[in-house]
Amino acid sequence: MNSIFEPVIGLEVHVQLNTATKIFCGCSTAFGATPNSQTCPVCLGLPGALPVLNRQVVENAITAGLATNCQIAPRSIFARKNYFYPDLPKGYQISQYELPICEHGWLDIETDNGGKRIGITRIHMEEDAGKLLHAEESEGGSSLVDLNRACTPLLEIVSEPDMRSSDEAVAYLKKLHQIVVYLGITDGNMEEGSFRCDANVSVRPHGQEKFGTRAELKNINSFRFVKEAIEYEIDRQIELIEDGGKVVQETRLFNADTGITRSMRGKEEAHDYRYFPDPDLLPLNVDSDWIERVRGELPELPAAKRQRYQEQLGLSDYDAEVLAAERPMAEYFERCTALHDNPKACANWTMGEVQRGLNEQSISIGECPVTPELLTGLIARIDDNTISNKIAKQVFDQIWQTGKSADVIIEEQGLKQVTDTGAIEALVDEVIAANPAQVEQFRAGQEKVLGFFVGQVMKASKGKANPQMVNELLRNKLKG
Ligand SMILES: [Zn+2]
Repeated sequence: MNSIFEPVIGLEVHVQLNTATKIFCGCSTAFGATPNSQTCPVCLGLPGALPVLNRQVVENAITAGLATNCQIAPRSIFARKNYFYPDLPKGYQISQYELPICEHGWLDIETDNGGKRIGITRIHMEEDAGKLLHAEESEGGSSLVDLNRACTPLLEIVSEPDMRSSDEAVAYLKKLHQIVVYLGITDGNMEEGSFRCDANVSVRPHGQEKFGTRAELKNINSFRFVKEAIEYEIDRQIELIEDGGKVVQETRLFNADTGITRSMRGKEEAHDYRYFPDPDLLPLNVDSDWIERVRGELPELPAAKRQRYQEQLGLSDYDAEVLAAERPMAEYFERCTALHDNPKACANWTMGEVQRGLNEQSISIGECPVTPELLTGLIARIDDNTISNKIAKQVFDQIWQTGKSADVIIEEQGLKQVTDTGAIEALVDEVIAANPAQVEQFRAGQEKVLGFFVGQVMKASKGKANPQMVNELLRNKLKG
C-alpha cells in the first residue's frame, strides 16, 4: 500500500449467456463446432438480413439485474457501436448505450476492514464478435475468421469505480461470478471466456477527489490474473508519476506469462464509436408483470442461504459459507436435511466424506454415487445407534462403491453395533484382566489410560461395541 497514492478501480465484466440460440437469430450457440457451421444471413451480417431479439436473453438480463439490486428500465434501446474489425461482419456491434436495461445496482463484498458496498452502474445486453485464428508464419501466416461466436449473447456488467485495491476487485469479481452462475444464466467458464473482465485502473494522491487518468486492462480471464494485472498496473502508474511522467489513457493487455501489461492502443472515447439507435430493432418494453414474475422465480442467493443455514439450521458461519457457495452442493445438502432432520450431521457428511470422495475421483456433486437418499439412510443408522461413526465411514465407502443402502450393507456384513450390556461387559472384563499394569496406572490417577482400555475393547468387538457403553462400563469396573 503506497502512502501517497490511492488506486481507483472499476470493472467491466462480460458474461456469456447460456441460451440455446444467439441473441438476434436462431443459430446454435454450442461451443466447439466446425468453424462457420453455426451461421446464417443475420449473424454473417449479409445485406437486408434483419435481427430478431431473443426473449430469453432479456429474461436473463432482468434476472441478473434483480439479483444485483438494479432498477429494471421499462424501456431500453439497442444501439449500434460502429467500428471496423475483421471478426465483426456488419461493421458495427449491436449493444445498448444510452438506455440500458438495468441501472443503479450494488453488491456487498467482504474486505479486511469489514463489509463494503460496490455500486453497479449498469448492465446491458449485446452481441459478441467472431473469432480470428492466426496461422503461424510457417503455415502461410494467413488469418482465418470463425463467425460461430458472432451474435452470441453477452451481458456487460459495469461497476462504479468503487474499489481501492486488487483484493477488493477480486472479492467483487468472485461474488459477481458466484451470483451469475447461481442464477443459471451462464456456465461461468473463465477459461473458455464465458466470464471475462476488463479493469479500469488509475491512481490519485490520497485525499484528492478528482480521478487520475485511467488505463483499461482488457480481457483478463482468471481471478489470479486480475489481481496480478491490477497490481502491476498500480505500481507502473505510481512509478511513472513519481518519475515525473504522465499516465495516458489507453488500452493495455496483460501477459500472464510475464506478469506485465503492455500498451495495445489508445483508448477510444465513446464518440469514436458513433453510437446511434439501431433502426432495425424496436425499443424494448418490459412491463412490471414481467419483472415481478422473474423476481418470483429468482433462486435463493448464496448470502441469503448462508444466513438461513446459520439461523434456522444452527450451522457455524464457516459451514454455512462452504455449503452455500455453489448451488449444486447447497441443493444436495438441502435435500439431505429435508429427508433427515439432523442438519449438523448432514453438513458434516456433505463437507467431509462426500467432498473427499468427489475430490478423489474429480467428479461433480451431480455425479456423486451416494445420493442424498443413501447418505441420510446412513446418518439415520448412526443417530439411532445401530452403528458407530467409525463403522459408518466403512459403510459409506461401500455405499459409494456398490450403490447399496446402509441397511443392506449393515445386514449383509453383520455390522450392527453391540448394545447388549452383558456382551460388552464380558469384553471389558477380559481386557481388564489382560492388562493389570494399566489398571494400576488408572487407579493411581492416570485418567488418560482410559483411552487405551476403550481402544482395546473396541478392537476386541471389531469396532461394533457402542463406545458410550464401553466408556461407562470401563469407568465403573476400573474404579472398583
Ligand atoms: Zn445466425
